[in-house]
Amino acid sequence: MAESFFKFDDELLALAKKVQEDCAPVFARIEGIQAANEQKVLSAFARQRVSEVHFKGSTGYGYDDMGREALDRVYADFFGCEDALVRHNFVSGTHALTVALFGVLRMGDTMVSLTGAPYDTMEEVIGLRGEGNGSLKDFGVSYRQLDLKADGTPDYDGIPQAVQGAKVAYIQRSRGYSLRPSLTVADIEKMAAAVKQANPQALVVVDNCYGEFVEEREPVQAGADLMIGSLIKNPGGGIAETGGYIAGKRDLIEKCSYRLTCVGMGKEVGCTLGQSRSMFLGAFLAPQAVASAVKTSVFALRLFSELGYEVYPRYDEYRTDIIAAIRLGTPEKLIAFCQGIQKGSPVDSYVSPEPWDMPGYDSQVIMAAGAFTGGASIEISADAPLREPYAVWLQGGLTYNTGKLAVLSAAQAMKEKGLL
Ligand SMILES: *Cc1c(COP(=O)(O)O)cnc(C)c1O
Repeated sequence: MAESFFKFDDELLALAKKVQEDCAPVFARIEGIQAANEQKVLSAFARQRVSEVHFKGSTGYGYDDMGREALDRVYADFFGCEDALVRHNFVSGTHALTVALFGVLRMGDTMVSLTGAPYDTMEEVIGLRGEGNGSLKDFGVSYRQLDLKADGTPDYDGIPQAVQGAKVAYIQRSRGYSLRPSLTVADIEKMAAAVKQANPQALVVVDNCYGEFVEEREPVQAGADLMIGSLIKNPGGGIAETGGYIAGKRDLIEKCSYRLTCVGMGKEVGCTLGQSRSMFLGAFLAPQAVASAVKTSVFALRLFSELGYEVYPRYDEYRTDIIAAIRLGTPEKLIAFCQGIQKGSPVDSYVSPEPWDMPGYDSQVIMAAGAFTGGASIEISADAPLREPYAVWLQGGLTYNTGKLAVLSAAQAMKEKGLL
């Protein structure tokens, strides 16, 4: 056998062995969820009669593109909702979220976030930063937020008051660049029920990024009207080359489709070029990719907590997203960690990431992203804004064994710099 590229310290390897043993019962639980989700996806493919003709793709206007229509039906089927809009034309998760919000909100409406400050890139979309650039605020939509409680959990008691007069109650499932707990589908169900009871007109809209297939149910099966995500995260399975989705109630999906293309045309147009096959294949593989990513995350959480760092969540906690956050404490450690992840990636392993001013974010960010798809974070990746509390957010891992190697490589890089 050729000598391994990876050279890990013996002490680190001994710890990794113990950590993997500790993780065994957690991995078994993850595999159970994976099996349930694979059954759900396979059933949807069969029920919606997916066929080779759906992979062919269209050009130009894309009228009567059977693949595009079937993909929407397949997503709606496995997510358990009325309709979906799944398109490579969504350039990112932020774009899909933007289309959904502009799709359902009108001048004079109010959007209320029930999970405190939204994800960084949504600030400019809402109009919390910038002026006169076409944000929701510029179009006459007001925004307010119900802050999370001091322990980072939702303020359930504050919901009835907060949603009075609101058109959209917005919930972010995953922690984003914060250390608050991510919300389980059961948490979202409780929030959605509180919203509907206090204001039956309010629409519950969920930022579902990083959550798909981590549990057996999705927010639209727990009372949400719409949920939105990115195809270079969980549901693209590491295969979709770009794109996003919006899933939920049929009338709302229609409004969103009018915003994505044009009023009146909606879902009937939009050629798929050569993207359909990879979107179908990615969805088929997604439950497996997500399970690998969750296992990688569990391994990293256990390893770094054994190394003395605060981690979020605990390795054996019930999971609702693929993210692991590790409070490393200093910029030097963040940089070494990300460089180690990069070194353990299949693409661009020889480059060394540095902090940069990333569009949409207001502090410098360092990212390790040695991915087949640019910026894909269902693939092993780590990113960290260079600001307090100097924590790194780790996600992805298309296969557990390679994800684990990248995590060990991060620990090794810190060790070599005397930073572990
Ligand atoms: C990734 C993410 C988004 C969207 O980010 P994009 O990089 O635009 O895809 C939004 N919300 C959360 C919580 C996310 O993790």
